[in-house]
Amino acid sequence: MHYVSTRGGAAPVSFLDAVLAGLAPDGGLYVPQDWPQLDPATLAAAATAPYAQTAAVVLSLFAGADLDDATCQALCARAYGSQWASPAVTPLRQVGPGLWILELFHGPSLAFKDVAMQLIGQLYDHALTARDARLTVVCATSGDTGGAAVEALRHSTRTDLFVILPDGRVSEVQRRFMTGSGAPHVRALVADGDFDAAQAVVKDLFADRDFSAEVALSPVNSINISRIVAQAVYYVVASACLSRGGEPVHFTVPSGNFGDALAGFVARRIGAPVGRITIATNANDGLVKALDTGRYVRTAASQATISPAMDITVASNFERLVHALTPGTLQQRSDATRTAYASFAQSGAFDLPAGMQEAMAALFTARGIDDATTRAAMRDAHASTGEILCPHTAVAWAARPAAGTQAGHQVILATAHPAKFPQTVRETLGIDPPLPAHCADLFDRPEAFTRLPADAAAVKTAIRAALEGR
Ligand SMILES: *Cc1c(COP(=O)(O)O)cnc(C)c1O
Repeated sequence: MHYVSTRGGAAPVSFLDAVLAGLAPDGGLYVPQDWPQLDPATLAAAATAPYAQTAAVVLSLFAGADLDDATCQALCARAYGSQWASPAVTPLRQVGPGLWILELFHGPSLAFKDVAMQLIGQLYDHALTARDARLTVVCATSGDTGGAAVEALRHSTRTDLFVILPDGRVSEVQRRFMTGSGAPHVRALVADGDFDAAQAVVKDLFADRDFSAEVALSPVNSINISRIVAQAVYYVVASACLSRGGEPVHFTVPSGNFGDALAGFVARRIGAPVGRITIATNANDGLVKALDTGRYVRTAASQATISPAMDITVASNFERLVHALTPGTLQQRSDATRTAYASFAQSGAFDLPAGMQEAMAALFTARGIDDATTRAAMRDAHASTGEILCPHTAVAWAARPAAGTQAGHQVILATAHPAKFPQTVRETLGIDPPLPAHCADLFDRPEAFTRLPADAAAVKTAIRAALEGR
């Protein structure tokens, strides 16, 4: 199994090399050279098999010779074990005729990013132990990624994690997931600035090749191929549970960086009965416009909304869809993607390559939902089903296709627990959503963090000092 860059300018690498590298050296994203295929027996078993077992089969398809079956099973058993509040890991809950919510928030940091991060933590320790190496992992976060990374790496013996969070821009619940781990190799750096400033610091750290090599720096962000693989699993499981005789199951997905929706596309490509995918965005709706107009445009600044995990200016994973849906040979698809993203770097926009818009429209619908409509959706879902939705999930609730417009079951992805966004839930529904039992002690955990200017030099000093003191 080989992974190539979407831009065609990097040597093919194995799965674990792609996982440890994150980004390809030519600036593209790693994608499998060919899509592996699930065998019918795995698909049939996925409806009733333990989640970890289906995850292991999917992982082994993508890992190829890098991981044998027993290793895939051991890694997935640890990633999807008792740290999940539901034994199903990602349970489906029926909320209406043919209408289901896929709850992705039962992990340790209460957001769907745990599904992928718990596996990445296992993959890192496995690969680094085999190579007798260590990594310094950094991430800038506007919210949920940082908490999921902390929970994934707090038991790691091979990594040091630095999470850079913008001062005052994350909710208290989100902050406490990053500052309360108690693990000495996990550090929260509170940067004086906004998310873009924190992100710029991370870019500067990587741009300094000497520093990056000195500390063995690795990014943990939504472009890692293993995250997409891990997230494809719940589409395989959910579609296997609901499909009768191969009938397609449709999904509506709250979207920011387009990792989650892309994982649905990947599940379909490897043979799961995934039907139409509705991309649900907030006011940051570049993907909606791309599908409507055939042109993808970077927005000047992200608009702040009540679904902050989706407030992005560039949907990074869209590059993988461009590469996958452009017609032609591998070479033609890489050439078209490279040209598109060269234009994007120059002018902040590109025209979808010829044939892509039609191919995308055949599989995807996209809808942008404003904050008022999101709040109305929270009230509607609560009144009609009793469900308390987090604001991101409510965006998908509002964007879902009307009942009766598609044959087959409809699934809405619930990406965060409502207790992670208590203020919006309280304002909208007048309800204080309680923290679930497995993190009820969150506000009692002692916090540890370092305050810094949002400045690469200050962050480098802090990282070096922490590594020396290890
Ligand atoms: C990250 C996140 C999203 C967006 O997911 P993408 O994979 O970036 O599209 C949606 N909801 C929540 C709660 C998130 O944390």
